[in-house]
Amino acid sequence: MDNLIKVDKNVVLQRFHPIGKFSHKGIQGHALIIGGSYGKIGAPCLSAKACLKSGAGLVTAYIPKCGYEIMQTALPEVMVETDDYPTHIRAIETKLKIQAVGIGIGIGQHLETHQAVFHFLKLNKAPLVIDADGINILSENKEWLEFLPAKTILTPHVKELERLIGAWKNEADKMEKVKTLSKTFDIVMVIKGAPTRIVYQDQVFENTTGNQSLATAGSGDVLTGIITGLLAQAYDPVDAAVTGVFIHGLTADIALPELGYHAFVASDSIAYLGKAFH
Ligand code: AMP
Ligand code: MG
Repeated sequence: MDNLIKVDKNVVLQRFHPIGKFSHKGIQGHALIIGGSYGKIGAPCLSAKACLKSGAGLVTAYIPKCGYEIMQTALPEVMVETDDYPTHIRAIETKLKIQAVGIGIGIGQHLETHQAVFHFLKLNKAPLVIDADGINILSENKEWLEFLPAKTILTPHVKELERLIGAWKNEADKMEKVKTLSKTFDIVMVIKGAPTRIVYQDQVFENTTGNQSLATAGSGDVLTGIITGLLAQAYDPVDAAVTGVFIHGLTADIALPELGYHAFVASDSIAYLGKAFH
């Protein structure tokens, strides 16, 4: 494939932002994780924790009311905002000054949630990662792609991608469709799989880390948190996507000798972030 860059340690190190000796939480950036619905509060918990453990200075989770105590108990470092409705997000109103947003994880498909996402996207100017049902909501309202900030990152798995771009004939056709979408709306596409590819306009990056341990619930939620955390630290969105995907895969590679393929779960990916960043 033309213009394909294999993402190895050197490619990532060229993009890597070390944390300076005199940094503080303000410099490390404030990230907002928006998602969750009744029975799916674990998703924003995983994202918010991965975001913090990727170096974001502050993380606020915007979730439905039913998740308030769960999140505050599970993650003492994370601040929580909610709307007034118990089971799913009906409005996203926040006065926070934030450097990055990750939206969609576990958010569900209620029509009221669609409207909340619509109003948020229209007002939001911060760098953005959209995942999971956030992508599905966009697939049903493609005209909203126009509102996205330049270089917004979308992280579809194969089913989410199919809803977004329609069925493809073969791999080459898929990549052409993804490139066209990227160019038309100036978005960064993270095409998750084995291997994951990051596509921005005509540039294609192919990740070299990760293994089948990642084929487990919540894996993608962790990836969204990592990328959002890097965006909060002022990474260029392509660099955040490339670095985040590499680090996410690395957690599974480092964990493999200890956990094998079967016992690895998404929380383990978070637990190994320290070693992966190191
Ligand atoms: P999701 O389906 O949204 O939970 O995302 C799954 C995550 O795990 C993505 O980052 C995938 O690239 C990764 N993943 C899933 N299965 C594999 C596999 N067999 N090999 C490598 N990575 C995988
Ligand atoms: Mg997912």
